[in-house]
Amino acid sequence: MQQPLYVLTESTQRTSGADARRSNVAAGRAVAAAVRTTLGPRGMDKLLVDSSGTVVVTNDGATILGEMDIEHPAARMLVEVAESQEAAVGDGTTTAAILAGELLARAEDLLDDDIHATAVVEGYHEALRLALDAVDGMRIDDEIDREALVTVAESAMTGKGTGDIATGVLAEIVVDAVLQVADDDRRVDRDDIRVFTRTGASAAATELVRGVVFEGEPANDTMPRSVEDATVAVLDTKLDVRSGEVDTEYTITSVEQLDAALSAEDAERRGIAETLSAAGVDVVVCSKKISDPVAAYLADVGILAFSNVKGSEARAFARATGARRLGTLAGIEAGDLGAAASVRVERHGGDDVTFLEGSDDSRTVTLYVRGSTDHVVDETERAIDDALGVTVAASEDGEIVPGAGAVEIAIADRVRSGANAVTGRKALAVEAFADAVDAIPRTLAENAGLDPIDALVDLRARHEREGVAGIVIDGPSVEITDPRDEHVVDPAAVKREALESATEAATMILRIDDVIAAN
Ligand code: ADP
Ligand code: MG
Repeated sequence: MQQPLYVLTESTQRTSGADARRSNVAAGRAVAAAVRTTLGPRGMDKLLVDSSGTVVVTNDGATILGEMDIEHPAARMLVEVAESQEAAVGDGTTTAAILAGELLARAEDLLDDDIHATAVVEGYHEALRLALDAVDGMRIDDEIDREALVTVAESAMTGKGTGDIATGVLAEIVVDAVLQVADDDRRVDRDDIRVFTRTGASAAATELVRGVVFEGEPANDTMPRSVEDATVAVLDTKLDVRSGEVDTEYTITSVEQLDAALSAEDAERRGIAETLSAAGVDVVVCSKKISDPVAAYLADVGILAFSNVKGSEARAFARATGARRLGTLAGIEAGDLGAAASVRVERHGGDDVTFLEGSDDSRTVTLYVRGSTDHVVDETERAIDDALGVTVAASEDGEIVPGAGAVEIAIADRVRSGANAVTGRKALAVEAFADAVDAIPRTLAENAGLDPIDALVDLRARHEREGVAGIVIDGPSVEITDPRDEHVVDPAAVKREALESATEAATMILRIDDVIAAN
């Protein structure tokens, strides 16, 4: 008699084969279903309440999935799709999640018909190749100028709650921000675009500052609160007497010696202010501490100084003014300093907020987002974040495609005709992929209140005839027409990323046939 062999502890939960698959697919589909209704300009919002009672109202796929406490491991994979989509291109998260959910749903039917998971996975990969081809084929050839970027940014924000500010106005602000910091190759370092939010004014007061906005008050109350044409020093060194060095240790035996020592320290502090003043500095931004006595001397010589600013802020000040970040005051010279058109400290919403307007070629900008309530400000910030993502993607890679479902109809068409060339059962998976992609225009139609089947039929017919057709939503009206005429466009990069990440997540889930969970 052979002894039974136990590999796993008794409390381990194990599901395998069809059961594991079914549960994974169901979990993935549930996640996709959660964001379906938010797709497109007529998408609805979700109100999310977390365990501490914090309320978030949003239309943003990545945010919804991020806030939901999702436990199922397969469902978590879909959340990760949304997260990686957000990180890679900053938009298209709902599209990616819906697509992954549809791919899973269709795969389940195929598996039920006894088609092996491997064939489905291979078919999906084959279809992905055709789909990416189709995206290339839909590229709009026009040069991506400022106007084109504004349409891209606006498409990304339509349907998001942006308070009382029109998405058209916000789109211009976003594009100006991107163009200001883009280098000659149109590349953008996202760290150069900062977003600063504050309630207490309507969203219409949202503005672009060609420099830095930060929450910080002058190091001393008597310092000037506003300086025009400022010469700026950015310092990464503590401003106080040097301490802790062996040679400054001395033994004091008399009152005279004590006085002498104290006045030597005092002279050193005053010397710091005099050195900066002599170098022509008007404004000091210091990432380390400025001691109170030094701050008082700086105020005496009329310098506006900020102490303990964050490293990221010190970087931004340097980028905005052209100043070099200095680790020591020794040998400070004109070339180390930067220039700012103005530096102002203002009271906003009960706090000191400092505005530094850099030079004309400031390499950093701040979107100063206003709104009447935290909810408006937060949702506006998310809309801006999506718009920044697509604008950077479109500007860097220089490729846009028609939106409103047009590219998806073209993809489905291309994939379906490609399926003919695929042999065996894999062909069924290729066709299933095309059906899954149809879900994007179908959902747009559904969310816009159209009959999804009729809309899809019309859309296909028009695509056949004219090559480009989308479900274009313009305020209250919905029309099947060429989205390019209505300036509804998306970056090609967003579409490619959504197709790739959705396929990857779906095929990863399909390959699993065993779930072993430690308890
Ligand atoms: P995602 O998280 O996938 O970006 P969105 O809710 O932002 O989800 O919806 C994006 C989809 O909405 C894209 O397919 C885009 O082309 C489409 N879209 C944007 N503006 C319009 C419009 N005016 N009419 C129709 N579709 C639009
Ligand atoms: Mg979007």
